[in-house]
Amino acid sequence: MNSLETPSFPSRLPKVGTTIFTVMSALAAEHKAINLGQGFPDFPCDRKLIAEVNEAMLADRNQYPPMIGIAELRNGICQKIQNLYGHHYDVDTEITITAGGTQGILTAILACVSPGDEVIIIEPAYDSYRPSIELAGGKTIAISLQVIRDERGQVASYEIPWDQLAKAIHSKTRLIIINTPHNPTGMIWSKNDLDCLANLVRNTSALILSDEVYEHMVYDEVQHYSVASHPELAARSFLISSFGKTYHVTGWKVGYVAAPTALTKEFRKVHQFNVFTVNTPMQYGIATYLADAIHYLSLPAFYQAKRDFFRAGLGKTKFKLLPTPGTYFQCVDYSALGIPQAKFNEADFCKWLTTEIGVAAIPVSAFYEQATESGVIRFCFAKQDQTLTSALQRLEKI
Ligand code: GLN
Repeated sequence: MNSLETPSFPSRLPKVGTTIFTVMSALAAEHKAINLGQGFPDFPCDRKLIAEVNEAMLADRNQYPPMIGIAELRNGICQKIQNLYGHHYDVDTEITITAGGTQGILTAILACVSPGDEVIIIEPAYDSYRPSIELAGGKTIAISLQVIRDERGQVASYEIPWDQLAKAIHSKTRLIIINTPHNPTGMIWSKNDLDCLANLVRNTSALILSDEVYEHMVYDEVQHYSVASHPELAARSFLISSFGKTYHVTGWKVGYVAAPTALTKEFRKVHQFNVFTVNTPMQYGIATYLADAIHYLSLPAFYQAKRDFFRAGLGKTKFKLLPTPGTYFQCVDYSALGIPQAKFNEADFCKWLTTEIGVAAIPVSAFYEQATESGVIRFCFAKQDQTLTSALQRLEKI
């Protein structure tokens, strides 16, 4: 080997490439397509929130905050969870500020999964879960949401595969990852679903990681049921949420993890050597903004209007709409479009849609490890009406 050559080494994540979200956003930019792929808003956040962060910076709140996050923000989160879900997390020992949801997820997994431990995920699953489990040396046990089809064979909805889940849980199960409201399908867990999960894990040592980053995006007066609303589950759960999603600032990367003291203690051991702390002025700005509950209580109505607007427009296309009780994602079945491309696999269909029609979407197959094709793609409707209108005009032409 010549001395200027970089030594080779075995990849820790040999099967991982660049995330589908980055790939589709790059393709959308390259082809000047309307980007309904990666989940992020294309509208500005509230100027008040920016002013609060600005003020914190100008007040010289620019040095390291406490490792666990500033007290003002942890207090606000504690209040919010108490008010919405009726569970009290201790401000000092049970709430930690993270650099977004994804860092919270990786850190929680590294904190509790030892080599050989099994972690159950339910596919389609967010793409960071599996690599995070792999980095911890855990073994991913993937089960799939049951796909319910209509009389024409098109996808109608998804259901939790309780029998499979029950069979998958045993003494080696360290963690079960759930996600409600669910990315990419938009489905939400009911109170009864939480009860069923509690029945399955009772008398086991399985922990739960509940990814609830879309907690404030639930529609039609339906309620979000957090693991925090279920005392038995709360006692064994890491609850993950994200201010990026709630306040339209995905680039700020600020979220939190709420978990019982014993879990938080281990979580923080990893967190302190992972990111150590999360940027100070954003924490102060968000803490002040969070004090006014209207900023998150207004979210369901705000996004429901976008969902309804987008669905009404899609109703004029040949796509089949799946239900969207939560999240800012709308899934559609394209298998009956009546064009040759309707036979494409989901990834190829999304590429075609981006390059030829000018609208980027995400293939749901990207949320499965083993190729699983159901002819369903995901659009993000966290966009200005004008963006959605332009996208709909293009989609109507198909
Ligand atoms: N959560 C976002 C989505 O599902 C993307 C986040 C990311 O790009 N890593 O689209």
